[in-house]
Amino acid sequence: MTPAAPVSAGSGPERPPPGELLRRLRQRHATDPITHVERVPPRSGIAVPWPAWAPEDLRAAYARRGVTAPWRHQAEAAGLAYDRQHVVVATGTASGKSLAYQLPALSALLADPRATVLYLAPTKALAADQLRAVATLEIEGVRPSCYDGDTPRAEREWIRRHSRFVLTNPDMLHHGILPGHAQWSGFLRRLAYVVVDECHVYRGVFGSHVAHVLRRLRRQCTRYRPATGDPGPTFVLASATSGDPAAAAGRLTGLPVTAVTEDTSPRAGVTFALWEPPLLPPDPAAIPSPRPAPAASASAPSGPSPAGPPSGGPAHEANDLTQVRRSALRETADLLADTVASGVRTLAFVRSRRGAEVVATSTRRSLDEAVPGLGDRVAAYRGGYLREERRELERALLHGDLLGLASTNALELGVDLIGLDAVLICGYPGTRASLWQQAGRAGRSGQEALAVLIARDDPLDTYLVHHPEAVFGAPVEATVLDPANAYVLGPQLACAAAEAPLTDADLALFGDGAKDTVAALVEAGALRQRPTGWYWRHRERPEVDLRGDGGAPVCVVEAATGRLLGTVDGGSAHFLLHSGAVYLHQGVSYVVDTLDLDDGCALVHPEEPDWSTHARDVTSLSVVSVRSYVDAGPVGLFLGEVDVTSQVVSYQRRRIATGEVIDTRPLDLPARELRTVAVWFTLSPESLATAGVDPADVPGGLHAAEHAAIGLLPLVATCDRWDIGGLSTAVHPDTEAPTVFVYDGHPGGAGFAERAYGMASSWLRATRDAIAECGCEHGCPSCVQSPKCGNGNNPLSKPDAIRVLDVVLANLPVALSG
Ligand SMILES: [Zn+2]
Ligand SMILES: [Zn+2]
Repeated sequence: MTPAAPVSAGSGPERPPPGELLRRLRQRHATDPITHVERVPPRSGIAVPWPAWAPEDLRAAYARRGVTAPWRHQAEAAGLAYDRQHVVVATGTASGKSLAYQLPALSALLADPRATVLYLAPTKALAADQLRAVATLEIEGVRPSCYDGDTPRAEREWIRRHSRFVLTNPDMLHHGILPGHAQWSGFLRRLAYVVVDECHVYRGVFGSHVAHVLRRLRRQCTRYRPATGDPGPTFVLASATSGDPAAAAGRLTGLPVTAVTEDTSPRAGVTFALWEPPLLPPDPAAIPSPRPAPAASASAPSGPSPAGPPSGGPAHEANDLTQVRRSALRETADLLADTVASGVRTLAFVRSRRGAEVVATSTRRSLDEAVPGLGDRVAAYRGGYLREERRELERALLHGDLLGLASTNALELGVDLIGLDAVLICGYPGTRASLWQQAGRAGRSGQEALAVLIARDDPLDTYLVHHPEAVFGAPVEATVLDPANAYVLGPQLACAAAEAPLTDADLALFGDGAKDTVAALVEAGALRQRPTGWYWRHRERPEVDLRGDGGAPVCVVEAATGRLLGTVDGGSAHFLLHSGAVYLHQGVSYVVDTLDLDDGCALVHPEEPDWSTHARDVTSLSVVSVRSYVDAGPVGLFLGEVDVTSQVVSYQRRRIATGEVIDTRPLDLPARELRTVAVWFTLSPESLATAGVDPADVPGGLHAAEHAAIGLLPLVATCDRWDIGGLSTAVHPDTEAPTVFVYDGHPGGAGFAERAYGMASSWLRATRDAIAECGCEHGCPSCVQSPKCGNGNNPLSKPDAIRVLDVVLANLPVALSG
């Protein structure tokens, strides 16, 4: 980052109020891009006196940091924890959640010179920040320490023996602390509090794994505690605002948890605008020749991409013969340039690292054209910065040396940037919880701030900017995780057994499915049953990756130097590391030379092409069992287990700045099997005919409905569209009817399909509305086209998708709306 131009924060143009700023921003376009403006009123804080039990030393330490009294929600959560009740505090950004757990935890350490506290953060950076916060309180005898993969061997033993406040992450707890529990026996015996920070991050398969890691921790605490009646450590969880946090925290810990959700910290007023980039005029040169009509029985898969969102900008398809919208990246860059030119300190959130670079570069260029040197006051934030670099960034923005920052949501964790004048959110971040977290960066006390959500060209974003009630009127999502997933439970029970033989009492701890799962592990030869319990049979510990999908991880190696850059889990390797793939590591771009699946190794070289790569796969699916169904006359709705076979067959290269497809190249990779959970609906051919769907258009209607349904699923479940796959067919051998399948992209499912089944009416209603309300004529990325379609978005019929969904909605019971 280049340090500042010689202008102090106060000088430069007068900073306009949000309403005036918004008026300036919209002037760029002939048509008004603003679909809605919401005013979020300011809130004054409610401070309360320190609780009587809070030790004087601790109050004095906070007073030295400028905290003279807690907000009411902090005191309430701390009080519950002090009374040994498990508690989750789920409030907004910068509402002071750390004090809610520091207060009871540090009080316990002061009251009992042998008590200990374990703090868990999802990232090392956040743990390091919390270490600093606890250390600056200077409470004697606590010796707070980080214990993670970076901790030198020499220091580890000292920490185990002497630190009373250990900060770590779930991976280290799983791989290091629990397997070595004997060395931690003293610490575990006296463990008073377990703090789980940013607990909303533990969702899906990862969250289900962490839920069992916490049960393993509770089990070891029980084993080392002398008294049988000992209730074990008290859990204090901190979450971003989320739906039903008590239930989610209860699922995560396996304990009854009380929630504190009323945020009593002060907040500045925010003017929040929803912004839809304008449609570009159709480009006649881009219209391709017509394709042959597809066979009526062709199935059209859109496999999930465990790779996560594409690394480049928004994606447009090769056969994109209708209008497209101006890219959200370009729009964001223009808005950032305008706000910076107005002297407004602005943070732009962009979903990918490359996207953040594109926005920053383009903003700098246009500012320099207007006022040479002004571009220096805009920077990009990439992940992987050192703490000192992050602090310098915070300082520069706070002082106004830097006026604009384009960042990925890596900033959500570990960087203390609040009190900005404006926040631009390039593309819906996936959940309302994240949206509010990002918008919460805007606003200094007493001053109105501006937040703008800029819609990407995709069905969910388009739906949201036209349905402000779904943004502002709806509660934030519940965190979805499923500890009963057999693909998580099995490996976790194996880890638990390797730590100490499992007993009947342990099985109750791990939940309903544990008994059957243990029986299956015995059957498979992993466990042996003896009178005293179930024993792990092998010398080596089970290899279980909390964040992976199973499958051995693949190493990424720089060919020229032999340097190991990192690993990618086996499930994602086909998508991310095929030959020719552009692979990003800590903001540096590499291109894959070869992928050797037998050796589990990909060789790469540094190269930064101006395209991104997007793997394509073909998919088939068979139904294994039906868990639950709704018989709705001509329509059937099902939840069940399915086997999905998919094969990555090719990849596209797309220009990063425009999303334009350069070419499609074939790949030769083996097929893979996934057993997972799916939701699907069937329709009778007669009902489709009555609704006016020509038999030849059935595949296109189903396929278009499938794409949009996948795009809208994040509205009802905390998933990303990249966690989900789908398949549609005019006749499926297992259902013998026109069918649309939507499945979890993780072995055993992560709870997403189940949620979709329970919310089917709301979900499919929103899907139908998103398609019907899109301004395009034949379907576009904002409604029925998918950036990851295995069939090149062919066939697709927008009007028939609406007819298909109308038939489904006319028959489904309304009760399926949560
Ligand atoms: Zn459209
Ligand atoms: Zn498709």
